[in-house]
Amino acid sequence: MFFLQRSIRKIKAYYRKWLLFTALFASIGMIANIFIAYAMDPLMAEISYCVYFSSIDYIIMFLCGFIALYTGHLKIRKALVIPVRIILLLDNISLFLNLAFKHQFDIYEYKNRYGVVFYLTNLKPVFNIHLMIDYVMILVALVFVIIKLFKSYSYYRNKYFSILFVVLLIVALNAVYMMFSLPLDASVLFYPIGLVLITYFTEKRVPRAIRSSVMRSAVQVMTEGLILIDIDDNCLYANDFIKNYFGFDRESFSEDVEPIKTILNGKHISETSDFSTEYVREKDGHDEHFIISFNRFYDNRGRDLGSYFVIDDTTSANRVMAELENAREEADKASRAKSDFLANMSHEIRTPLNSLLGMNEMVFRESDDPKVKEYSENIRMAGDSLLSLINDILDFSKIEAGRMEIIPDAYNFHKVLRDCYNMMAPTATEKGLFVHIDCDENLPSKLHGDEVRIRQILSNLLSNAVKYTKEGGITITVTFDDFNPGFINVKVDVKDTGVGISEENQKILFDAFRRVDESKNRNIEGTGLGLAITKQLVGLMGGELSVKSKLREGSTFTVIIPQPVLDAAPAGKFTTSAVTAGKKYKEKFIAPDAKILVVDDVPMNIKVVTALLSKNQMTVKTAGGGQEAIDLCKTEKFDLVLMDHMMPSPDGVEAFRSIKSSGANTDTPVIVLTANAINGADKEYLKIGFSDYISKPVRGAELEDMLIKHLPSGKVEMRDGAQI
Ligand code: ADP
Repeated sequence: MFFLQRSIRKIKAYYRKWLLFTALFASIGMIANIFIAYAMDPLMAEISYCVYFSSIDYIIMFLCGFIALYTGHLKIRKALVIPVRIILLLDNISLFLNLAFKHQFDIYEYKNRYGVVFYLTNLKPVFNIHLMIDYVMILVALVFVIIKLFKSYSYYRNKYFSILFVVLLIVALNAVYMMFSLPLDASVLFYPIGLVLITYFTEKRVPRAIRSSVMRSAVQVMTEGLILIDIDDNCLYANDFIKNYFGFDRESFSEDVEPIKTILNGKHISETSDFSTEYVREKDGHDEHFIISFNRFYDNRGRDLGSYFVIDDTTSANRVMAELENAREEADKASRAKSDFLANMSHEIRTPLNSLLGMNEMVFRESDDPKVKEYSENIRMAGDSLLSLINDILDFSKIEAGRMEIIPDAYNFHKVLRDCYNMMAPTATEKGLFVHIDCDENLPSKLHGDEVRIRQILSNLLSNAVKYTKEGGITITVTFDDFNPGFINVKVDVKDTGVGISEENQKILFDAFRRVDESKNRNIEGTGLGLAITKQLVGLMGGELSVKSKLREGSTFTVIIPQPVLDAAPAGKFTTSAVTAGKKYKEKFIAPDAKILVVDDVPMNIKVVTALLSKNQMTVKTAGGGQEAIDLCKTEKFDLVLMDHMMPSPDGVEAFRSIKSSGANTDTPVIVLTANAINGADKEYLKIGFSDYISKPVRGAELEDMLIKHLPSGKVEMRDGAQI
């Protein structure tokens, strides 16, 4: 019973109910049989017979119900349920009425040769109705099974065979009982056993057979090769893949077939432990790639059972990888082409801009006519915005290409802030705006960061504040906190009393090429790139940029940048130096004993540089190309060389190398003039050995600073009040 219960438990709940009822009535039938065998008097025997005969009705009903369900005859089953129940009820009433009318059977005593008394039945013709009901039900169930048997195939057929077998056995046993009028009906006993058999067949044996057959078929057609080997190195199995790709099968396998021979490399399979390797062979003029893995397998006590090879064809995966790699290279090439194009474009635009702004600076210096000075100032402003536009586009494309690098070096934050202030102060003054700077006096004097990029971030925020403020002014607050020893978070708040930004627009503020309130700001020049670049730069430094703003009340942009501290000594009170723009030009230094060489293939550029240096009283020699410079430098000693990079052969770098290798100027500082603003170019120049670099367009003040830095100090005479 326990075993029966266990096996029934494994059957799906859907069927379990039917089998449980069958088992229940089988148990009642068995108990009734026992009562019959041990009956003390005819009445007890008769009651037990009635119970037994009626239990048979219900066993068969539930068994047939189960069979109908299992064979999928749901509709017929549903239609028959009520008539069958009514018929069985009537049959049962008739069986129990036998106690009064004796119309179904009589009870008589039978004594066997050992003197034991049994009560047997003498069946009357009416009893045949009861028998007929049972046999008709069994017949219907058999028909169900036989129909299913014909419809199904292969392993599934076994399921129905098992049921057929069980039902026929019950019928046979029952017939034997009837024929010999035995006191015990063995078929009742067989019901539970039959159930166990059905369970075993339907839930275990058949699924197992199906599973192993399906697995064999799957392994046979799978897209990897499989070879199973026993412990004596014989092949137990090789699937279709092996035959198709390597031309051998189970019979023709040996350790000498390819690819086994190559990967075993002289060893026997039994001596080999788990490995995975790549195997490449040439076929029809192209390479085929495989990954072959070898594994041993063991039983649950760890004893060697054999081993297997799995061979995976990775040719197409490799091809896809190669294609992807090619595509990546193509994309890289395209991105390089874009960068090169941008570098060239920036060079092409900067070269004429250099002449334009240089000459304009000369006009500004030389002229005393206020009208002309005003025109010249306008040219300078237009030139400046054109330059910042080119810089923005270049920076943005660098960031997009992931080529923007943060190059940290020692710097002084006050100096960066002062530069930014000086840049925006003239415009702020012109617009009548106040500018307050409140900088923590304890800010460390030397930090380690990318000065150029920090200047770019601050000047973007400051110039925006000035641009978008009509009245009131700008307050810049610099504070810091030490978040780690040796590190600080520099926090800069740029607060303006300008137009402000609506909440909605604050969300898109940092998107590239998005200008908010386009119609209102139409008159204010800009590309919508500044904040996008600023945000990216701050991100690259591991910092944060945020904004708080109210429409028509003003905005506060806050930038926090983590910076290592090189010198923690407080930088002290922040001071702004005098604003020089717009004032009359005065040279910063004179160097009457100094002799420098200016090399450029574009005569206009030479003119600009010589003009910018005209007040510094130096001897300025010029060379119209690399070769001329090399020739001059062989014999004549200079204190400094200003060398253009992009020249027809020999270019600036070649000429530099030649000058440095021999002649009179091997230790003369050479400063490269470059219109190449692409990222990393500056580092490259220093790596080559140039003392410094100036990017075009060259500004007078910048050029002077550079000369003061690199000319022999004894030859430089500073002018009163001049500052670098
Ligand atoms: P733009 O070159 O247009 O100034 P930005 O990326 O620097 O590009 O700024 C994007 C937009 O954000 C600007 O068009 C402007 O509408 C708004 N904006 C930036 N700074 C401020 C500010 N301080 N006050 C008000 N609006 C600002």
